Amino acid sequence: MAREFDTVLVRFGELSTKGKNRKDFIKKLELNLKRILRDHKELSFRRTHDRIYIELNGTDIVPIKEKLQKVFGISSFSFTKKVETDIETIGQMCLELLEDYPKEATFKIISRRHDKSFPMHSDEINRTIAGQILKNTEHKVDVHHPDVPIQIEVHQHETYITLEKIPGIGGYPTGINGKVLLLLSGGIDSPVAAYELMKRGLEVEAIHYASPPYTSDQAKQKVLDLAKIVSIYQGSMKIHIIPFTDLQLEIYKAAKDPYAITIMRRMMYRIAEKVANKVRALAIGTGESVGQVASQTLESIACINAVIQMPVLRPLVCMDKVEIIDLSKQIGTYETSILPYADCCTIFDPKNPVTKPSIKKAETLETLFDYETMIDEAIEQETIAFVSDEEEVDTFL
Ligand code: ATP
Ligand code: MG
Repeated sequence: MAREFDTVLVRFGELSTKGKNRKDFIKKLELNLKRILRDHKELSFRRTHDRIYIELNGTDIVPIKEKLQKVFGISSFSFTKKVETDIETIGQMCLELLEDYPKEATFKIISRRHDKSFPMHSDEINRTIAGQILKNTEHKVDVHHPDVPIQIEVHQHETYITLEKIPGIGGYPTGINGKVLLLLSGGIDSPVAAYELMKRGLEVEAIHYASPPYTSDQAKQKVLDLAKIVSIYQGSMKIHIIPFTDLQLEIYKAAKDPYAITIMRRMMYRIAEKVANKVRALAIGTGESVGQVASQTLESIACINAVIQMPVLRPLVCMDKVEIIDLSKQIGTYETSILPYADCCTIFDPKNPVTKPSIKKAETLETLFDYETMIDEAIEQETIAFVSDEEEVDTFL
């Protein structure tokens, strides 16, 4: 059927990227597209300086649309009809495409010449095609608020006709801006932080602190399930699972209420920085948000951050819980996040955590046990898990 779409036209976001960066951006975006669409073997890809064209070769557009809406770096995309660059043929196809709309629907022609050797200017193309439609149908032109904006892209040999622009999720192609090690808990916040970091083009590797037997296998599985849900945006994710029980018990012996949580988080940061250096991540990420809990007051953040040199990225830092929850529902992590399996913080959570910890006091308490050796031991005993957006491949090392 003539009206079946044959090509997807993918437009890029963040167009300020220039030169080599821009080339890398487009190449990475194409790779990410090929990865997420890998099951659709019939597709073929072509990239130019400002578009990626995907030939559908008969593929159903429904799953393609769904997947393209999960790729960072796309500002918008359209399913288009490709015809020969010939004004009669273009006009004829516009007429056919309009048959799907009620006759009251208004339209506007918006044409753009990519090939300047085409003998008509875009204004002339607009007028000629609009004239043809007005002569043959009851549709009227509305230049301000058309029901059907018909976009025509004229290239040397082929012309793309588009009626609908579907918004993409924007951002940078995941992986283009380096690697970050994210502290991933089983809560609502950190999976959303993973999404936001990937949106900035960062590859996310995760670190999780588990305290068996106080925390269950289900709690660990929940973290892997969350990692798997967000891994759709980058294909797969590696998770470092750090045994945290011994350290936590020492912390509570030494610090008790109300400094225990502060010191525990200082240990988490220290371990994360060491692992990040090992895996060549340039920053640490967390799901912290100012003021959300006692350990996230500005004083707490300062006291915890003081133990490491590496930058800490906190994409949710100024977001309200309601906004974070909305986003977690949107990306599909919410239902898993609210499953009631206790994680290490919930189990050892003191009753009266300090909200304005002093760095000096924390340092004094930390002299009471040999945390450096314990940190190294914990890292030595890490297990590594891989999750991917494919069904079967979740492995442990
Ligand atoms: P979340 O919903 O992500 O659990 P939260 O509001 O419960 O966050 P906290 O428990 O104070 O807040 O944790 C703050 C951040 O510390 C988390 O977003 C996460 O980045 C990190 N974190 C907390 N617990 C763990 C853990 N067991 N393993 C790894 N990271 C953790
Ligand atoms: Mg938590």
